[in-house]
Amino acid sequence: MEIMPFLRRHRRVYLSYVAAGLVLVLTFASMQMFMLYHQSSPRHFIIPTLLGLFIGMLLATLVAMRREMAIRQHLFRAVADLAQEFIYVRNTQGVYEYVSPSCQEITGYGQEDFYAEPHLLSRLVVDEDRHEWDRHVYQMHNEGKPERLLIRIRHRSGEIRWLEHVCSDLRDDNGNLLGVRSTNLDVTDRMKNEQQLAIAATAFQTHDAILITDAKAMIVRVNKAFIEITGYELEEVIGKTPAILKSGKHDQAFYEEMWATIKREGIWEGELIDRRKSGDLYPKHLTITAVKDELGVITNYVGVFSDITIRKAAEEEIHRLAFYDPLTSLPNRRLLIDRLQLAMAACDRNNSYGAVLFIDLDNFKELNDTQGHDVGDQLLVEVAHRLLACVRTGDTVARLGGDEFVVLLANLFDTELDVVPRAESVASKVLSSLHLPYLLNGQPHHGTASIGVALFHGSQKSVDELLKHSDVALYQAKNSGRATLRFFDPSMQQALEVRAKLNKELHLALHENQFELYFQPQVDAQGQCLGAEVLLRWQHPERGLLMPNEFISYAEESGLIADIDFWVLAEACKRLNRWQDKPGTTPLLLAVNVSAAAFMRADFVDDVMSIINRSGVEPGMLKLELTETSLVDGVDEAIGKISRLKAAGVRFSLDDFGTGYSSLAYLRQLPISQLKIDRAFVRNVVSDAGDAVIAKTIIGMAQNLGLEVVAEGVETREQLDLLVSFGCKTFQGYLFSRPVTFWDFESRNWSAL
Ligand code: C2E
Ligand code: CA
Ligand code: CA
Repeated sequence: MEIMPFLRRHRRVYLSYVAAGLVLVLTFASMQMFMLYHQSSPRHFIIPTLLGLFIGMLLATLVAMRREMAIRQHLFRAVADLAQEFIYVRNTQGVYEYVSPSCQEITGYGQEDFYAEPHLLSRLVVDEDRHEWDRHVYQMHNEGKPERLLIRIRHRSGEIRWLEHVCSDLRDDNGNLLGVRSTNLDVTDRMKNEQQLAIAATAFQTHDAILITDAKAMIVRVNKAFIEITGYELEEVIGKTPAILKSGKHDQAFYEEMWATIKREGIWEGELIDRRKSGDLYPKHLTITAVKDELGVITNYVGVFSDITIRKAAEEEIHRLAFYDPLTSLPNRRLLIDRLQLAMAACDRNNSYGAVLFIDLDNFKELNDTQGHDVGDQLLVEVAHRLLACVRTGDTVARLGGDEFVVLLANLFDTELDVVPRAESVASKVLSSLHLPYLLNGQPHHGTASIGVALFHGSQKSVDELLKHSDVALYQAKNSGRATLRFFDPSMQQALEVRAKLNKELHLALHENQFELYFQPQVDAQGQCLGAEVLLRWQHPERGLLMPNEFISYAEESGLIADIDFWVLAEACKRLNRWQDKPGTTPLLLAVNVSAAAFMRADFVDDVMSIINRSGVEPGMLKLELTETSLVDGVDEAIGKISRLKAAGVRFSLDDFGTGYSSLAYLRQLPISQLKIDRAFVRNVVSDAGDAVIAKTIIGMAQNLGLEVVAEGVETREQLDLLVSFGCKTFQGYLFSRPVTFWDFESRNWSAL
């Protein structure tokens, strides 16, 4: 204890006690002086004064020391009681000498509990930390080393609390052990924060790149994935702005919009292209979040992104498969339609024109069939290259399938006058490029193409219409000899529309019995009727009676002709049936025209036989007129069919003879019974010596082959006489009768001729 400060602190105690001692001793001395009045010496006065002083000081020191102790203890408690930490002092017996009131908050137990139970704190330590605690207690007891350790205790409420326990021994001035003292700080919150930080730090190191900037968008932190993805080192980016990642692929407006969204909504999410340190571009998916403080002021921005190169590639592959032709990599029909719609909308806005070039390779099927599909594919790929070389970047070259390509020229010019020459020049360029020789599988190949062009002005036409129009123009180009180009012409379109309408009406006609049979007699030289050719008429509900030349070719085109033929055959059989039962009308033959389409049907023979059988007519009463076109599919097959029906009694006639291939070679093999000399030879047989020779030759030749000959289209007696003189025995023509209704035919007296 330092004496001077102590004395200073207790100055007043001293003064008062010294004064009291002095008063006491002086009083005592005065009494003595009074009693010993004359005997007294100065000694009698000095000794009591010194004694009084000594007693006063002694008393003052004792009182001051006690007071000092009390103050000290009071001060210690005052401080310890206030401390956040749970402070305790234990004596060597392990009994708590002092426990601070914060034990209540930290452990849930009060000071009395601790005073009552010396091992309370040990009991609260959780099992997991018990070993560590025991070691600590042992060490404190045996070595008395101060220690600091983290332990977990179970609070009275059951909650686990982290304590930072600091402990050291307590000794007197002589170094004798008095006990231990300890402070215990509740660090549960700090530990939780640390755990959270540890979690955050782990989360920070994800596969996603993370960059954190301050409020001025200066990068303050990035994670490992960021370094891996961008290729930048940590020190290269800290303090910079994320602008170093920019690829230049997005304009200013893009970034302005991004920042506006972050400011407005606090977050932006989207895809963009950035650049790695290496210079490579890569697509990323990025989320930027603004971090705000409690006052709502932005303190940081956090950007999280992933490299989506692989996902993008997969998406692009899916897109490619859906919108591109796998062989040529050109856009397919779907994408073309998309682009057309866009182009039309753009034309609408700009009031400009565009054009569609529909390109079809001539004779591609032949190449494919003769050289194989591999060679065909090679040609298509080469064509795709050449087409791409003919157009500008904004134009589209698409493959619709097969050998059909479309070139879309968008946003051309303001007037039709300008757009036609431009479209024509591109189309001509395409044609000449496609007409250059090809090298396929090492072999030279010459190919041509046809092009149909349709123009569009805004979206006045639908995409479908536009493609149809270019297809119509293509059809026209093909019809006019191929290897050429045609612009869509509305009158052509009209003709096509008429045809389409007629097709529909033909179907209806068959189902609603609008067809009628006319009969044109076939006679011998004496005018005796041998039978009739059945000729078809169409009683059209609006247009009246239509002749075959007005509809047969359409029926052939649509494939309906075969059904019509079978209908005619069935009707003819019904009429024959009528005559079979009527005396006097037999044995008249009926000749029925059979189109190539009907004859070439696989079950032609069975169908004919079933019609005949169902009607019950004698097959020998029926003659089927074929033309040479029926034989092109294979003479052997034709012979087979004819033979089978011939065996049943059906006869055959070869119609329009002399106009087709007229090959005598196969004529010899065909099991037919009759030839019909075409009207064309009969017409000029009198006036044209050449035609006369042909007619004469045909008749002579037929006779040699044992075939009957019918001359059709006989209109004059001169023609008849001449043909008779050539040896012809059967005739058909206006000279005898025009085709008439069944009613007329039956009621005529043919023998009168
Ligand atoms: P086709 O088989 O050569 O029929 C003969 C055509 O010559 C008939 O014309 C007939 O009216 C016409 N004709 C007959 N005598 C004369 C004449 O003295 N002078 C002239 N100028 N013409 C004469 P139609 O009835 O108009 O038939 C035309 C073509 O239509 C037929 O030619 C035939 O190819 C086809 N056709 C008619 N009916 C049918 C049918 O039921 N089925 C099939 N597939 N084709 C039919
Ligand atoms: Ca005929
Ligand atoms: Ca004919």
